[in-house]
Amino acid sequence: AKAHQRSSHSYFTVDMGVEIRERVRMMHALRAAFENERLFVVYQPQIDMRTQSPVGAEALLRWKNEEGQFVPPDQFIPIAEYSGLIVDIGEWVLRSACFELIHLHNLGFTDFKMAVNVSQAQFSHPLFLQSLERALTDTRAPANCLELEITESMAMNDPEMLIKTLHHIKQLGVQISIDDFGTGFSSLSHLQKLNVDKLKIDRAFVNEINDKSGEGSIAKMIVQLSQSLNIKVIAEGVETKLQADTLMGFGCHLAQGYLYARPKTQLDLRAWLAQGPDH
Ligand code: C2E
Ligand code: CA
Ligand code: CA
Ligand code: CA
Repeated sequence: AKAHQRSSHSYFTVDMGVEIRERVRMMHALRAAFENERLFVVYQPQIDMRTQSPVGAEALLRWKNEEGQFVPPDQFIPIAEYSGLIVDIGEWVLRSACFELIHLHNLGFTDFKMAVNVSQAQFSHPLFLQSLERALTDTRAPANCLELEITESMAMNDPEMLIKTLHHIKQLGVQISIDDFGTGFSSLSHLQKLNVDKLKIDRAFVNEINDKSGEGSIAKMIVQLSQSLNIKVIAEGVETKLQADTLMGFGCHLAQGYLYARPKTQLDLRAWLAQGPDH
């Protein structure tokens, strides 16, 4: 029994050691990339499906490592969150997105909206509101064209803090949307109290809309919920015409997905917008 114990103990130690070392390595590499300005932001257009015209974009972070490979955000964002790096990186993404927003407005796309992802650690940081206000005043981006995407789980961790912070954000005129809606089990009474502007249907529920079976009953339910709460709704990960038509049938008119556009560098986005939606 003793031998067995020792071997299982060393097994876990080795395994965890490797994982922790890998995480620490990635954290150092990420910090270096941030400091050496090797992170960048891409923008995925959001579309009004009825007119096929772009109405805004979501800012998404990209990291190309020393070997020239893209590290997926799903891998490095958790490390940025865990290490606290997300506070500085997130502020930089927010400022970059605000600068791009005002640039697009100056090019004549005056109603264009910009959505930015905000992590829990960023949101609950005591200086978050200050950095948000500073981003708006420094860039002169209009607050009502900026939208912050938060997740449902943030509503569950500390509802009091969240409600207070959201109140300040709304006073600035900045919009709030709930990202990946439906994946986080937040209560409906919560949702009403939070007074958000938009729900974002997670890609997983859009994916269920296909020829084989699923009529997208969860997506439909979220659209109906948004209608009864009188808030906006957008679907992410729309890849097929069937999905677009089905969502429009439900009453969801906003979409983001490969059917319309992949995330684009800032120069590609400007060129794409200048060409118009039919090109
Ligand atoms: P998310 O916020 O749910 O972002 C949507 C993800 O779906 C993006 O992946 C986008 O490229 C992808 N996507 C959009 N349309 C389609 C489609 O039609 N098909 C498929 N298969 N995928 C589609 P990405 O850029 O890899 O980002 C992954 C996640 O990383 C994001 O999920 C978000 O949670 C996080 N993230 C990205 N940038 C930031 C950031 O600046 N700050 C924070 N806190 N998180 C970020
Ligand atoms: Ca998002
Ligand atoms: Ca999302
Ligand atoms: Ca998602």
